[in-house]
Amino acid sequence: ARACSRRLHDALTINAPLILSSTQARHASGHSENTNTFIKEALRELEYPEKLQRLLLTPQREVLVELVITKDNGEIETFNAYRVQHDDSRGPFKGGLRYHPHVDLDDVRSLASLMTWKTAVMDIPFGGAKGGITVDPKALSERELEKLTRKLVQSIKDVIGPLMDIPAPDMNTDGRIMAWAFDEYSKHQGFSPGVVTGKPVHLHGSLGREAATGRGTVFATRELLKHTGNGTIAGKTIVVQGFGNVGAWAAEIFAEQGGKVIAVSDAEGAVHNESGLDIPALRRHLASGSKLSSFSEGTAIDKASILSLECDVLVPAAIGGVITEDNADSLQCRFVIEAANGPTTPGGDQKLRSRGIEVLPDIYTNGGGVTVSFFEWVQNLQNFRWEEEDVNRKLDRTMTEAFAAVWATSKEKRIPLRTAAFVKALERVTRAHIHRGFD
Ligand code: GLU
Repeated sequence: ARACSRRLHDALTINAPLILSSTQARHASGHSENTNTFIKEALRELEYPEKLQRLLLTPQREVLVELVITKDNGEIETFNAYRVQHDDSRGPFKGGLRYHPHVDLDDVRSLASLMTWKTAVMDIPFGGAKGGITVDPKALSERELEKLTRKLVQSIKDVIGPLMDIPAPDMNTDGRIMAWAFDEYSKHQGFSPGVVTGKPVHLHGSLGREAATGRGTVFATRELLKHTGNGTIAGKTIVVQGFGNVGAWAAEIFAEQGGKVIAVSDAEGAVHNESGLDIPALRRHLASGSKLSSFSEGTAIDKASILSLECDVLVPAAIGGVITEDNADSLQCRFVIEAANGPTTPGGDQKLRSRGIEVLPDIYTNGGGVTVSFFEWVQNLQNFRWEEEDVNRKLDRTMTEAFAAVWATSKEKRIPLRTAAFVKALERVTRAHIHRGFD
């Protein structure tokens, strides 16, 4: 009831246009239905009353805005943007901003919910939110991207803030965009570095933040291998789908620890080398503007085939919904490490379960990013700077402790790791709601 009335109240008072067009409704992609399927499985395990389930599944606030910018050629263009604030019972709303042509309300709603469970499973004092703009950032100039980011911040400035809701990078957004967001917000509300995380290190960002999601993914994999009696990362064959911030850092750190990264893909292609790719060389190759497929120390392969390569560890680190009922049978790995958000559909998950492939779920696996966002935010509030070793050591500890909690729940209740992670998260969020009171 609180969530509903608050949502209504916000809809009436928010200082920004609220639009829900029929196009958005039509394009509803079913992402939140998938996420809710996983959550409901954990709720059944917990035997929570129906009313509580509604409270936990309903976002507290959904903001829809239309952003208008003048393009470099003088033409006016409009973009739909969203900020969904799912739950703030454990702390300020927290979650990234995604710039992607497929972003829609349902997608953002699902990702916002995942952030609530992620911050809870990592046990950091934040709630969950997500935002996004329906845009192909590659089609915009740097100047247009800056204008769009500033417009977004102008439109949502009354519902974000260092103690209210703290955006961060996500797909196709980075430190440069966070610097514009920090600057724009500070123009309106006064100097506020803590309003966004993932800022450049020279502009109140944190050492270790850029690599954090990838590094956390490697710590997570290390724990899973150890607990399942499968040794260490050294010598394991690893395939990484997606070579953005998460995939590239994960691949590099896997290789540093002796893992054999035999194939990686990005949106345009894939490259394979059975004896292990030289990841730093591959990153230099891409930074010089060349394509993944033209990397000379590997063979170009079809990017669609990357998921079915034989390997020990498969790391989806790109978009959601890539492992489905239709392709789950073709996977030839022993472990799926979900560095992306929502890479496996419920149908795909069922198949992997029945095949005995262990899945390390997204809300834990990629929680290293938001964990170091928390460290960045703390440094901003403290007006202080931590050493990189400190950040990485605290990240390691947070990943290790969260793994232990998920693993213990999984063993105790005899449930898969994904359900166990949701159970742990739901318990923590529910406890916060109960202790704070509903009315
Ligand atoms: N976008 C990242 C995620 O999905 C990081 C969020 C954050 O740091 O707030 O977890």
